Amino acid sequence: MRLALRDSILLRMSEIKTRTPDLLVMDQEQLSKRSAPLIDAFHRRISYLRLSVTDRCDLRCTYCMPERMTFLPKREVLSLEELFELSSGFIDRGVTKIRITGGEPLVRRDIMDLFAALGRRLGHDLQELTLTTNATQLADYADGLAKAGVKRVNISLDTLDRAKFAELTRRDALPKVLEGIAAARDAGLKVKLNAVALKGVNEAELPDLIAWAHGQGHDVTLIEVMPLGDVEEERLDQYLRLDTVRAELEQRWTLTDNEHSSGGPARYVDIPETGGRLGFITPHSNNFCASCNRLRVTATGQLYPCLGGTEQVDLRAALRSDNPQEALANGLDQAMRIKPERHHFNMDKRGADPAVARHMSMTGG
Ligand code: SAM
Ligand code: SF4
Repeated sequence: MRLALRDSILLRMSEIKTRTPDLLVMDQEQLSKRSAPLIDAFHRRISYLRLSVTDRCDLRCTYCMPERMTFLPKREVLSLEELFELSSGFIDRGVTKIRITGGEPLVRRDIMDLFAALGRRLGHDLQELTLTTNATQLADYADGLAKAGVKRVNISLDTLDRAKFAELTRRDALPKVLEGIAAARDAGLKVKLNAVALKGVNEAELPDLIAWAHGQGHDVTLIEVMPLGDVEEERLDQYLRLDTVRAELEQRWTLTDNEHSSGGPARYVDIPETGGRLGFITPHSNNFCASCNRLRVTATGQLYPCLGGTEQVDLRAALRSDNPQEALANGLDQAMRIKPERHHFNMDKRGADPAVARHMSMTGG
């Protein structure tokens, strides 16, 4: 597998270097299609890919998946070579940022080979390579990630209370996670912590979590829970509005709006008292779809243009067709036609079906 991935990288790199001769033999129309920017029907320019490399995970967060989660058979998942080929197709179309996610990306065997391969495109046509992780394995991988060119990581951490962490993730892994966070910092990676705000679970602890993170030099983003996939608990019981949380934090600290944008849905504030930055991702209380610049691809190569929608394009079939580059370009064009204007999450009704049947761990958070 390692050799095959190296071969496809070498092939790709030589393609990049020898693009001018290619121009002579390739049909002009085909060429412009393969490099045309991705702009959807609502004039949004797509420059960001979230790529899930596995749906598997070593935790079982209660808001993300049920305790007895059924994972995909491994044969359905794209190989590392296919993931690289697919990423290259997106980069050719103007995607400049790739976030590797999952499931838990660091449980995928040989995943560092993909980071190393994509890392070689940094500084050419890829501007940023990053990942979202639960950090349980990060102590082993932080140095390798930094070496591959990763500069920033998002780490999910909802509580600093070991017993609560064990209850929330159904695994007693907080010490490993804290070790992973420290290793990331020591490796020179900029860490941002993501916490899902959960009613009656970490609600009272959020100020302490924020103060701790800021004290360590890490930004924090709070996220409203989304109705993705069936979980044991009622979504409405988990849902905590972030405008309420913000109002409570304002009783304690000064929250100054910050224009910083990571190109994502978060709205940021600075907190002078803690010296850190805090983001709010509020799909329900403040819709952010108008500035959406991203596409998501699952580990099986299904492209979902919207996290909250059912629209989908099968890129695995494209990759495995006779003319993968052409088929991939066609698939991306189709994604631009079907990307919806906005999600339609509904958190008003008790007992409602999930907005989409897919869990976040499948689509890639
Ligand atoms: N396993 C990695 C992690 O936890 O960071 C990456 C994948 S995880 C699906 C990505 C993010 O999605 C995490 O920050 C997690 O908290 C968030 N998430 C999972 N299910 C969610 C849901 N139903 N609503 C809101 N956020 C969710
Ligand atoms: Fe795993 Fe991340 Fe989902 Fe938690 S949120 S179960 S760590 S994929």
